[in-house]
Amino acid sequence: MIGQRGAVFVDLHMVAMSQKLALFIVSAFFVGIVSSGKGGQGRERRSLVHYAQGDAIQDGRPMGSLMKMGNSEHEEKLAELIKKPKHYEEIVAKEKAKPIVTDFVESVAPSTRGATTDLSKKWDYKMTIVIAPEFSDEAREMLLSAIYTLSEALKCFQFYVTRKGVTLPSRKDHLVISRDRDGCLSMLGKQSGQQFVFLGERCNLYGTAIHEIIHALGFYHEHTRPDRDNYVTVDWSQIKTANGKLQFKISDQNYPKEYDFDSLMHYPFSPILQPLPGKVPPGARPGQRDHLSKNDIMQLQALYPCSNSPFYRKK
Ligand SMILES: [Zn+2]
Repeated sequence: MIGQRGAVFVDLHMVAMSQKLALFIVSAFFVGIVSSGKGGQGRERRSLVHYAQGDAIQDGRPMGSLMKMGNSEHEEKLAELIKKPKHYEEIVAKEKAKPIVTDFVESVAPSTRGATTDLSKKWDYKMTIVIAPEFSDEAREMLLSAIYTLSEALKCFQFYVTRKGVTLPSRKDHLVISRDRDGCLSMLGKQSGQQFVFLGERCNLYGTAIHEIIHALGFYHEHTRPDRDNYVTVDWSQIKTANGKLQFKISDQNYPKEYDFDSLMHYPFSPILQPLPGKVPPGARPGQRDHLSKNDIMQLQALYPCSNSPFYRKK
């Protein structure tokens, strides 16, 4: 339901998220300089500490010796190219039957603006993803389906997923999908070394996972395009936090396509975000999280073009 209560919840949530984000940044710094200290950690925390310390675990057994080698032969043993999950069609069909999202429970890290115009924030046509062990087998397959959908859109970009239970050293560029934080959170664009997508209990493990990974690939929200004021209005008086404001701040991305209400990167309408009259085309479902729109795919392919694309430029 979209209503005043929903907006209040969103604001409260964003306060919580900004605090958690600060905590995450501090803890990321902390684990970057501390090389020991597993003692006294709870089970959930330990998984995060393992990633941060650069340990690799396979079914609970350390794989440190493998990780030190770091050559392609050994990397292949740790991660494999994403394949179509067994229940992919069923999962996609089930997600399509769900209602569109009615509020936003997410946050994008504020310190990383400029991804789409900053080539250093682009991935080198390859992303290795660790799905944290706290996800059940069923949840893991939904996440694999999300990654597979992206791989289908980005034909010249390779997604690798580590085998179940295998983590990678923090110095290696890779994405960890984790449940260690509430809310849905991503960094914008490629960071250096390990980076996280957090998908808390309320996050959709298919559509929101795609949404957050697209942020990690370097994309802003559709409703922050420079031309968005021709399509939607933002009621700034209802956004109470700096982080909340950031989610609506106009970005510098400007890809050659029309404003897309059906984008998987568009927020649902709310008291904060409303369409201008007559602007939503028939069939568009703002806030949908069940498919990449045609324009989403075009935009992904524009940032990561194949060499035969008009967008392709050699660095
Ligand atoms: Zn987002």
